[in-house]
Amino acid sequence: MKLHCLGTAGYHPSATRQTSCYFIPEASLMLDAGSGLFRVESLIHHDEISVLLSHAHLDHVFGLTFFLDFLAVTPLRKIHVYGERAKIEAIQKHLFNELMFPVLVPIQWHAIEDLGPEFVLNSARCRWFPLDHPGGSVGYRIDWPDLSIAYITDTTTSPQSAYWREIQGVDWLIHECNFSDEEIDFAIKTGHSWTSAVLESAAKAGIPRLILTHINPLACEPDPLGLAQATAKMPRLTPSQILVASDSLVIDLSSL
Ligand SMILES: [Zn+2]
Ligand SMILES: [Zn+2]
Repeated sequence: MKLHCLGTAGYHPSATRQTSCYFIPEASLMLDAGSGLFRVESLIHHDEISVLLSHAHLDHVFGLTFFLDFLAVTPLRKIHVYGERAKIEAIQKHLFNELMFPVLVPIQWHAIEDLGPEFVLNSARCRWFPLDHPGGSVGYRIDWPDLSIAYITDTTTSPQSAYWREIQGVDWLIHECNFSDEEIDFAIKTGHSWTSAVLESAAKAGIPRLILTHINPLACEPDPLGLAQATAKMPRLTPSQILVASDSLVIDLSSL
């Protein structure tokens, strides 16, 4: 099973990064629908797609409007979007308002509150739980019979954050890391995480494989998170366990 990183920036696109969107073609499963969604076209081979939304901030939902094109030029016929009810209502009212976008995209909306804390998504079990972010966001844990992932964005993390209990034992953790340790004040102000907090928390939780993403588009490449410095202070998490996501990166989730 492969994870395609279609958009790995937070907030706004840069010359090299679009905003949050990830896709697993084999499961026809998308995580968030930021501007990177435009890259999904050649990867759509099913007639249905499921999109899990963390929240409704624009960098995670703007790409939903692009589906109109893909309904016309790919096998796609049904789009299922999952998220909290208040976020769905905000998207329907504001993003799919004809003053903002001219056509109503035919989406089947699923309020996750109606499905309970855990629901079945094709061959997977999916759990959701709250994160700490202005306006609220949710994290997801997805368990297939032989593989599990967690998707945690946007949030200010600490080893005490309640969600670490929900994702115990996952094979892969995709976690936001919008800021380096130089910008802790701004991370707290905007409801995001910084490098050493994510590494320390993931190490304490025994996460075996960590994908850092939702990268500040203004950060300097090729080490936008100051990872070299931060990992040196984290002996329990080796550099080989950590990947910094980049647009168009494809990660083989079977290679544990
Ligand atoms: Zn975001
Ligand atoms: Zn946000």
